[in-house]
Amino acid sequence: QPSEQEFRDIAKVIPYFPFKGIPRFYDIAGFLSKPEVFQKIVDIFVARYGGMEIDGVAGMDARGFVLGPPIALALKKPFIMIRKKGKMPNCIESPPYSCEYGKRDGMCLQRDAVKSGDRILVIDDLVATGGTLSAGIQCVKMLGGIVVECACVVELKMFIDPEEGSGLPNRTKMFEQ
Ligand code: IMP
Repeated sequence: QPSEQEFRDIAKVIPYFPFKGIPRFYDIAGFLSKPEVFQKIVDIFVARYGGMEIDGVAGMDARGFVLGPPIALALKKPFIMIRKKGKMPNCIESPPYSCEYGKRDGMCLQRDAVKSGDRILVIDDLVATGGTLSAGIQCVKMLGGIVVECACVVELKMFIDPEEGSGLPNRTKMFEQ
């Protein structure tokens, strides 16, 4: 658990971005501009996953593409992109999903990026409702892969339990599907 100062180093809080309905946007540019903080974050993930059996590290479009590659390189594993629709050829596509920002088209994964039985770590910067990560999990599963774990730097706790007031789908239930 980071201290208050560490949290300020990780993310700046911007109110009402990208639109009025979002009271707080956590801007991770904070840690990208501080190499020692970025390195610490990568080291924490590498320490956690270094001893695990993993065949690939998948990053969610777009900030998972910033965080995932240094982790994949340190673990000496391939980096895999899970992208928004229409960006890559020869893909499978998850069903459309809901996230903090509303409805989204499915996420896409190239057919040869994951083989049946591959053990995949999925990385993103932040989890809110869990909709985006769930779409990523679905992509990996559609190709017969196994998601070992999902890892993010920031977790918005308000989305864990709909009784806390968000009224959004329960994240734990989404991940169980
Ligand atoms: P979810 O799908 O509702 O969990 O939202 C998480 C996805 O939206 C991630 O891919 C994040 O990059 C993005 N996102 C949602 N809220 C924020 C935020 O406050 N800061 C940065 N990214 C966010």
